[in-house]
Amino acid sequence: MKYDIAVIGGGPAGISAAITAASKGRKVVLFEAHGFSPRLRSVEKVADYMGIPDVSGSRLMDIFVEHLRMTDADVVEEKIIALKEVGEGFELGTPSGVYEADAVVLATGISRSELLTGEKEFLGRGVSYCAKVDGMNYKGKKVIAIATVPDALAEVEYLADICEHVFFFPRYTGFVPPKKKNITVVMETPLEITGTDKVTGLHTDSDFFSVQAVFMFRASDPLNSFLPGLQIRGRSVYVDDQAETNIEGVFAGGDCTGQPWQCNRAAGQGQKAALSAIRYLSKRDERIGY
Ligand SMILES: Cc1cc2nc3c(=O)[nH]c(=O)nc-3n(C[C@H](O)[C@H](O)[C@H](O)COP(=O)(O)OP(=O)(O)OC[C@H]3O[C@@H](n4cnc5c(N)ncnc54)[C@H](O)[C@@H]3O)c2cc1C
Repeated sequence: MKYDIAVIGGGPAGISAAITAASKGRKVVLFEAHGFSPRLRSVEKVADYMGIPDVSGSRLMDIFVEHLRMTDADVVEEKIIALKEVGEGFELGTPSGVYEADAVVLATGISRSELLTGEKEFLGRGVSYCAKVDGMNYKGKKVIAIATVPDALAEVEYLADICEHVFFFPRYTGFVPPKKKNITVVMETPLEITGTDKVTGLHTDSDFFSVQAVFMFRASDPLNSFLPGLQIRGRSVYVDDQAETNIEGVFAGGDCTGQPWQCNRAAGQGQKAALSAIRYLSKRDERIGY
């Protein structure tokens, strides 16, 4: 099915965008990768969300998700790993499928990571964001897995089942060592992915690893990693006062567009992004005579 609007991210901004667009009768799909805002769920007490005082972040998210599930919006609990413009619309890739939409709302929250040197250059040529999609290409080979989130461990172990050896860089606290013998845990700092036409290795602050692939597992990837050409300012997506990015048909709201990082702002911006997307679709349909 082709959707009118695809929302990437199921935090306050994305849920607000999906509820708004669905309430206006648009066909909406929302993608969420990590259980609906691990960021807000980590907050013990939110005191300043209008109308719901003294609530935990987790309870507040549950309320938002309950509301989302009452709408006609489809919810896909998978990560978007690829986004590209195709004709007048967009194709969005998850580890298990491809979806189409006429407009996209980015609501992915803040990305704490910057692109590693060489990451963008070798994306699709040895750099990957998904073990399930690309793992088999490296069957019997040596690979690196760099993870900033604990739930990536399942993907790392999946790689170990296929590949000869996995050098695993856990970049988060509270790390539990994996049990598989062909996984080596490396606590060095990754610095640069190198290669020729394909990845050949990774430099750290003190060593060099000769590998055929580097898998990156993050809570939120830098947005320009999966949408080339997207204008970024600092670590935020550039948007104008109508929540439009520099790419026609792509809108953004919430923490991914910058500070202040607050739920009320995120929800308001998600709504603005959805309304702008709806206006864009109506104008476009008039123009092409739908
Ligand atoms: C310690 C702490 C305390 C805070 N206290 C408050 C407070 O008291 N009051 C307040 O208003 N705010 C508070 N905040 C801020 C609040 O949590 C954020 O402003 C809010 O969660 C932003 O919403 P968002 O939807 O923009 O992003 P997030 O809530 O970060 O949601 C983004 C979502 O996008 C998903 N995602 C990212 N990339 C992809 C992808 N490629 N595919 C699919 N899904 C993807 C992520 O899994 C995530 O669920 C606090 C934050 C922290 C960390």
